[in-house]
Amino acid sequence: MHEVGMVAELVDVAVARAAGRPVAVVRVRHATTFPEDVLRQAFDMLAAGGPLAAAQLLAEPFEVRLTCPCGFDGALAHDDVVGPGTAVCPSCSALRTIARQAELELLEVRLAS
Ligand SMILES: [Zn+2]
Repeated sequence: MHEVGMVAELVDVAVARAAGRPVAVVRVRHATTFPEDVLRQAFDMLAAGGPLAAAQLLAEPFEVRLTCPCGFDGALAHDDVVGPGTAVCPSCSALRTIARQAELELLEVRLAS
């Protein structure tokens, strides 16, 4: 699962920003193709025992959309995206190119005061 690797990178960056201080909130933006339960599970696992252990994870989802010549125009689900910049149209099953964008992005590391 590449999701866990992405969360691991995000946790590393957040830990570096915290520089040893306890963190209250970690705010992230994630594609709806990146399941929130996977995000939370991986975060809990990777944050355990570190400065993020007590941090609250705030996740802000955004839709990854596809407009296909077959007429489909809508949000994609996790299984529709088959690789970076590539998705399978849920309607006609054709391979389509989608805009490459970060599926997971760190927005804020708020320190405990
Ligand atoms: Zn289509």
